[in-house]
Amino acid sequence: MHLARFPRVKLFPAPTPLHRLENLSRELGADIWIKRDDCTVVATGGNKVRKLEWLIGEARAQGATHVVTQGAVQSNHVRQTAAVAAMYGLKCTALLEHRIETNDRDYLQGGNVLLDKLFGCEIEYRPGGIDMNAEAEKKGAELRATGVKAYVIPGGGSNKVGALGYVSCAQELVRQADEMGLKIDRLVTATGSAGTHAGLVVGLEGENAGIPVLGIGVRLPKDRQEENVFRLAEATADYVGVRGGIARSAVVANCDYVGKGYGIPTEGMVAAVRMLARLEGILLDPVYSGKAMAGMIDLIRSGEIRKSETVVFLHTGGAVGLFGYGETFAGEA
Ligand SMILES: *Cc1c(COP(=O)(O)O)cnc(C)c1O
Repeated sequence: MHLARFPRVKLFPAPTPLHRLENLSRELGADIWIKRDDCTVVATGGNKVRKLEWLIGEARAQGATHVVTQGAVQSNHVRQTAAVAAMYGLKCTALLEHRIETNDRDYLQGGNVLLDKLFGCEIEYRPGGIDMNAEAEKKGAELRATGVKAYVIPGGGSNKVGALGYVSCAQELVRQADEMGLKIDRLVTATGSAGTHAGLVVGLEGENAGIPVLGIGVRLPKDRQEENVFRLAEATADYVGVRGGIARSAVVANCDYVGKGYGIPTEGMVAAVRMLARLEGILLDPVYSGKAMAGMIDLIRSGEIRKSETVVFLHTGGAVGLFGYGETFAGEA
């Protein structure tokens, strides 16, 4: 794969750190490593920064002056997009979906929302349950009708362009592990709008790495999540020219840790966030990495992930979201 064919802006120093979680490994009697994509620098970091290298690269190549995107109220993707838009002098309009019913002030005003506003992002709200990518396209068309050069980024930056960020991350991880002499048996990541998971699957396939990816779902049931990831992986593989495409069996999601729904806290998530904070000094987030870590810990404890495996957890960031969930973490435990 020759990714330099595609326009890109460089947003952070690569590679992001890859290190062993010594205390968590000891606690679980396992061999757990972490890839620190929470350390992608821009706007406190996170996985969307990798996608934005390619999305904003393409927006600039097309002469855009304005980006439009969408997400849930506490979207990390919107926060990172707003920051990168500011860096490149692009206007940013974000549509925030009331995906969760709540009157909680922290959720509605704090965390990511506070930062969106600091980055000068123009926010519009939408009710929950509507087709938000269609709304974003509509907004983009409205702007274009007034002569604005608008570039629309789908939710989570998850299309074949954004997924290049995780094709590239897979290449980076394989190179890094080879240099360290680290044999990886499995890569675990949160999977939501699918771009991260799909990009990793394509990148690892393109590298012929033989490292299986397990996506831990945060929203949809397993069959729908895997279908979304597979569809995007196929489009991405085609875009970057991976010969032979992607096997359906390469896309595996476990969606047993979603709880009541997207962005709704679970006991396992709260325990996992506390555990990583107290054992490792690492901040996870309540919506994605906390639930993914809760899933990984449970699968290790139950033996579904064998303790002899070397597992790498991709930390996709999101700790800003903790400040949108003050109440959830307020109690002592
Ligand atoms: C968006 C996000 C994810 C999920 O990545 P997708 O590419 O949308 O599947 C995981 N973790 C965090 C912190 C995120 O913001």
